[in-house]
Amino acid sequence: MSGATPLPLYAIGLGSNRRHARFGDPRGVLMAALAALESDDIEPIDVSPIVASEPIGPSRRRYANAVALVASPLSPPEMLERLKGIEPSFGSRIGQRWGARTLDLDILLWSGGTWSDGNLTVPHPAMTERAFVLGPLRAVAPGWRHPLSGLTVRQLAARLVRAKPVDRHASAH
Ligand code: AMP
Repeated sequence: MSGATPLPLYAIGLGSNRRHARFGDPRGVLMAALAALESDDIEPIDVSPIVASEPIGPSRRRYANAVALVASPLSPPEMLERLKGIEPSFGSRIGQRWGARTLDLDILLWSGGTWSDGNLTVPHPAMTERAFVLGPLRAVAPGWRHPLSGLTVRQLAARLVRAKPVDRHASAH
């Protein structure tokens, strides 16, 4: 009998804001990271377009961001361990929170719902406030409901656009 139970799905956020000697610009880093993610127990289902976004915080660099949809039987802690194992192979990390980083991999959503332990929170707590996450996520999973808010990714993305502050320079003229 073929396995009727579908594998759990994960939405994985990928970010980079540094060049890599071998893979090139942040976009090249993400392409290589996507290839590194695929394995016997992580099956790529879809990947968003790679978007370039403005830097957040004191770093002057641009980010490249994307979201991959993967199917995997791994538990969230196992998936986190896998992701954190991939990051160092793309260069050493710098300790500061908003610093330049070659590769950042996050678990955004898991079809199993929520997960919370001392080390890992799923859904990723910051995902609902980040356009550079919700934009690519909407490209691959617009109807996925955030398990805590009950809103779809499409709704979360629309809410973020509406909440954007008015450009005071533009309105002053
Ligand atoms: P950062 O490098 O800033 O993304 O932080 C990495 C650390 O955040 C990881 O080592 C995890 O322990 C923790 N963390 C908590 N929730 C998540 C999540 N949903 N995805 C990735 N890392 C997470």
